[in-house]
Amino acid sequence: MEKLALHELWMLPYDLEEERAKEFLRRRGAGRVGVQLPPGLGGCWPEIGATLEECGVEGILVGSSCYGACDLADEEALKAGCGALLHYGHSDMGLPSRLPVLYVEARMRVDPSPAVEDALHGLGYKRLGLTTTVQHLSYLENLRKLLLSRGFEVHIGKPSGRAKYLGQILGCDVGSATSVAEKVEAFLHVGTGSFHPLGVAAATGKTVISVNPLGGRTVLSAAEFLRWRRGVVAKALSCRTFGILLSTKKGQWRPELARRVEKELRKEGRKTMMLVQDEIRVGDLKDFGMEAYVCTACPRIALDDARSTGEILLTPFETEVMLGKRGLEPYLLF
Ligand code: SF4
Repeated sequence: MEKLALHELWMLPYDLEEERAKEFLRRRGAGRVGVQLPPGLGGCWPEIGATLEECGVEGILVGSSCYGACDLADEEALKAGCGALLHYGHSDMGLPSRLPVLYVEARMRVDPSPAVEDALHGLGYKRLGLTTTVQHLSYLENLRKLLLSRGFEVHIGKPSGRAKYLGQILGCDVGSATSVAEKVEAFLHVGTGSFHPLGVAAATGKTVISVNPLGGRTVLSAAEFLRWRRGVVAKALSCRTFGILLSTKKGQWRPELARRVEKELRKEGRKTMMLVQDEIRVGDLKDFGMEAYVCTACPRIALDDARSTGEILLTPFETEVMLGKRGLEPYLLF
């Protein structure tokens, strides 16, 4: 199947767990609730709105960015007079909230088995690690059985704390892959997009066969990624001025890390500027006039968003590599 544009994603069948949402609304008795939808699910609003209407609850869409459960908008919803928050598309990562929150994971109702069957043809590996994102987790056990029935040895790992389920991958938690990396020859990842499987490849050094449940597979190796990041680190080495980026998003706010990076850079004779924003947009960085930047927020910003720009944007780990404190391998995403 051809690749879908973001605005087409919401047309896919997602489980919006209407009954669970109604039960939550009844229990909470809030007259007004905030609703957070990640990119791609904005089109589900009419369906969600109908559920709220049935419960006699006013819904307010919190329209600021929502890339993960790290982005919890309880403060915004509270300001808007809401008594509870419905957060769609992500699993709970245990962040404290000023409002009761219901996480609706919006699992996709598309069985990836046919796409996985297709991807297995001619696969030269027998010991596989199996990873996915929360949207496809309902099919993980079936996929494990499918792979076993085709003679593969299958390993499903444990996340490191931010992801909730065995086998689940986040851009900032690839524990489900690293915890079994030594036992496997390659990983089979189920999901759309390349950021998560690339993270698995980078953190484990293993080849990742990424299967899109809608059809098609991509093979990713860490080598190309590491070449790119080595180049960025080499460019940063000659830079004298660094902006240190801090995001105020609840699950991305890391002031101690930012201070540590600042101290290390200054010790090595670099000038630094601390920059605090809600959403860090790579396109805006050119306005701040620094030669290079270090992002202490979501790793996706340096490793995905910055790919198509000329900005020199490092992760804190890469800053240590640049300062000669450690090597680029094994690569640490966080
Ligand atoms: S990868 Fe980024 S957006 Fe996703 S949960 Fe982690 S910090 Fe949030």
